[in-house]
Amino acid sequence: MNGRTAVETLTSFNDAVEANEGHRLDPPRRDHQTPVDEPPFHVVEVQPGITFTMGGIDVTPDMAVLRRTGSSTTLPHFPESPATVRTATIPGLYAAGVDVGNVMHRQYMGGLAVALVTGRVAGRNAATN
Ligand SMILES: Cc1cc2nc3c(=O)[nH]c(=O)nc-3n(C[C@H](O)[C@H](O)[C@H](O)COP(=O)(O)OP(=O)(O)OC[C@H]3O[C@@H](n4cnc5c(N)ncnc54)[C@H](O)[C@@H]3O)c2cc1C
Repeated sequence: MNGRTAVETLTSFNDAVEANEGHRLDPPRRDHQTPVDEPPFHVVEVQPGITFTMGGIDVTPDMAVLRRTGSSTTLPHFPESPATVRTATIPGLYAAGVDVGNVMHRQYMGGLAVALVTGRVAGRNAATN
């Protein structure tokens, strides 16, 4: 462990969050802007990984996959403004689990329950339609 680098990193982190400028850090810190300033300190090596993207394909409540119609824009479809986007289902195509979008755009809530619930709906409809 490079102690000097660790202290410099900790100091710059604390300076940024105390100035409420965590968003300027790399990577940016948006939530929990609390300085790390109470010893004892311990070093733990971690390996970051992506659980899933928390975003995905637009679907109906039946898990039928939607595509856009009447628009050629590649801009994201924000759930706050669905009226600006017209969509239609793609016949015979269903999505489930982490491939489904707009489930947890505000807060992470785990993926197993989403996979279980949407998977059963998508599977039933794929088998019957
Ligand atoms: C490290 C880690 C920890 C997690 N911890 C939690 C937790 O504590 N609680 C929680 O709720 N969620 C947790 N999750 C998230 C949860 O595991 C996933 O959101 C969930 O398993 C997604 O289910 P899924 O069916 O959508 O996708 P997956 O489980 O990824 O299933 C997709 C399946 O499709 C198969 N597949 C891929 N391509 C093809 C192909 N071409 N042909 C055929 N089959 C294919 C894959 O092999 C896989 O079996 C965690 C995820 C990770 C990675």
